[in-house]
Amino acid sequence: MTDSIELLSKAKVGFIGAGNMAASILGGLIQSGLPAESIYVSNPSAGKLDALKEKYPNLNITHDNAEVASNVEYLLLSVKPHIMSSACADFKDMDLSQKCAISVAAGVTCETLNTILGADVPVVRSMPNTPSLIGYGATGLYANDQVTEQQREATSAIFDAVGISVWVEEENLIDSVTAVSGSGPAHYFLFMESVVQTGIELGLPEATARELAAQTALGAAAMVQQNDDMDIGQLRRNVTSPGGTTAAALDTLNEHKLPDIVKKALEASVKRAKELA
Ligand code: NAP
Repeated sequence: MTDSIELLSKAKVGFIGAGNMAASILGGLIQSGLPAESIYVSNPSAGKLDALKEKYPNLNITHDNAEVASNVEYLLLSVKPHIMSSACADFKDMDLSQKCAISVAAGVTCETLNTILGADVPVVRSMPNTPSLIGYGATGLYANDQVTEQQREATSAIFDAVGISVWVEEENLIDSVTAVSGSGPAHYFLFMESVVQTGIELGLPEATARELAAQTALGAAAMVQQNDDMDIGQLRRNVTSPGGTTAAALDTLNEHKLPDIVKKALEASVKRAKELA
């Protein structure tokens, strides 16, 4: 059992909704050492529950959302945003004030969650991203005032089981997290698609271009993570000899204002997140 999961070891964790996000987080929790018998999952249709039960025989599965809510201390609301209200209606009369509700639904505010669940309920809003599905997630978290320090630590442990997590102290910063990491994988996919396409046009076989592009992205990201005391600009300068091949490419990216394009793109993402909330 990892240190952070030990924080959760005496707690029970529940999932309302057994979709992709729930399956990946609960898989990460079990892989990190949380016993499957400590996890409860509900879902309307049987297929996803049966598949999870086959993989983790000790998991508690049910079609009854209220059964999950009543059994756990940490309740992950892992349904689509438009389903949130109806899914939570199943336990609307339950006192959840000693539990911690953790929403993964984009755009559903703490105020809305407290209206649905009760004003005194500790609520965390999370913004995970798709690499959580393979253990490389980056999740932003925001807690309302009712969330205790212990609940914060346990919530971090839940998302750290599928990657890394960070807290923001203002709820509107969840929109900034959405722009940087929530939607982020697609930004890097677009960049890599362009690199692979050009690699092919420059004569490389597609598989070779793809393998090189992916490993280069992974390597660059690992260098940033392993040199967290170094400015990213310095890492870039370290591999850029004046007048060399890297400088030629970077000059072209700057000439076409890549930093401005990225800024505009992320600002558009924040604007859209606010419109959708
Ligand atoms: P998903 O695979 O569609 O899962 C949603 C699940 O909710 C489905 O299994 C669905 O069951 C179930 N459900 C529907 N109505 C329900 C109800 N009344 N009570 C309980 N469960 C109910 O979606 P997802 O990709 O896991 O996304 C879940 C949430 O995570 C969304 O709010 C999304 O915005 C957020 N999110 C996802 C990602 C991601 O990478 N996937 C990233 C960031 C945020 P049926 O299939 O039987 O209808």
